Amino acid sequence: MLSCARTARLTLRQTWLQQLRFLNLQEYQSKELLDKYGCTVQRFFVTKNPDETKQKISNFTYGEYVVKAQILAGGRGKGRFIDGKSDLSGVVLTTEKNKVIESASGMLGKRLVTKQTAKEGVLVENVMVAESVDISRETYLAILMDRESNGPVIVASPAGGMDIEEVAEKQPDLIYKELIDINTGVTNKQCLKIATNLKFTGDLAKKAAEQVKALYNLFINVDATQVEINPFAETSDNRVFCVDAKLNFDDNAAFRQKEIFAMDTHAEADPREVEAEKHHLNYIGLTGNIACLVNGAGLAMATMDMIKLKGGEPANFLDVGGSVTEDGVYQAFGIITSDPQVKAILVNIFGGIVNCATVANGLITATKRIQLKVPLVVRLEGTNVEAAKKILESSGLPIITAKNLEEAAEKAVHAIS
Ligand code: GDP
Ligand code: MG
Repeated sequence: MLSCARTARLTLRQTWLQQLRFLNLQEYQSKELLDKYGCTVQRFFVTKNPDETKQKISNFTYGEYVVKAQILAGGRGKGRFIDGKSDLSGVVLTTEKNKVIESASGMLGKRLVTKQTAKEGVLVENVMVAESVDISRETYLAILMDRESNGPVIVASPAGGMDIEEVAEKQPDLIYKELIDINTGVTNKQCLKIATNLKFTGDLAKKAAEQVKALYNLFINVDATQVEINPFAETSDNRVFCVDAKLNFDDNAAFRQKEIFAMDTHAEADPREVEAEKHHLNYIGLTGNIACLVNGAGLAMATMDMIKLKGGEPANFLDVGGSVTEDGVYQAFGIITSDPQVKAILVNIFGGIVNCATVANGLITATKRIQLKVPLVVRLEGTNVEAAKKILESSGLPIITAKNLEEAAEKAVHAIS
């Protein structure tokens, strides 16, 4: 039993970590930012449908075009569409305008599967059409916030274009790391050293070093947690280009990066998570049938352990946080009950900052307005709990109350068995 609870705890912890959102932008949005900071990117436009592609392409004439499906996962070059043409990948190079229109149409509205997506793939809603870069050599460059060194680190490898994890495993000597002092920033000497490690020579080394500097400035100024350029490419006419870009941002900096966070289209996110976020609630979808409404991550883990221990499976978790309002409880109920898997609800709230009476009133309003059809088990403890209990009792609603978490979990499991 205990090891089962421990597994549950680990599962939840992992889920929790995965659900920690570091804003992720699409390639075209990242490249707009790169351009702003003086990093070299190719010219491009974005299209959502065939008419738009036809209209926009008529204004452009490039020697060669590259058509790229916009999804948050990488590996598009080797990806395949599960419900589209079998020979189409997520990155197409062509010299013909007709083929651009055809490829973009073949990608839009279809699901792309890559090494980095789930097996059901990701729906392509935007396609980038860009002037192809005449690549002669591909390298890898990333700037990350590194916990170990408590600051930024630049990871560079002359073996770019491909999967960097594979390089790290098979040719670790081809990966260079440069720790950056966050107070002084990256120095010119460090930029040149990185360029040399990437095997840029002569004038190109100078150009690559300038790009490293520009990318570092971007990294710091937009509060990024990751700027990954793969490939960071050399061209046959001696230029250095950021051909693909993956940027992540620190969600704690949302308050001072409003423009960037406004670019979040919530693409590829669970709609219930998006709805929860709107109301400052944290939602996590799981696979069982008991919905949990809790306040705080620690209490969530304990609740999940207890449900598992009593033979049940949580359907989801909604953490209402410390400053929940009556309306917040109502919104939370709407989100957790929108899942048809949910057969019972367990509310486990510890009133520290939050007043239990507020929660009790919220529960009553929600139960009435939603016309709740599944059993509701409530365990409240802490601030103003006696008043809260009276409110629940006098409501006349079939709310099942419990004195402690163990009893609550038992009652929730029993209610659906
Ligand atoms: P990813 O597969 O999702 O990482 O997408 P990338 O943008 O990195 O493209 C994958 C590969 O396609 C790159 O490593 C390049 O080899 C190739 N590629 C992408 N864009 C261009 C381009 O503009 N010109 C050329 N010649 N190749 C490109
Ligand atoms: Mg790439």
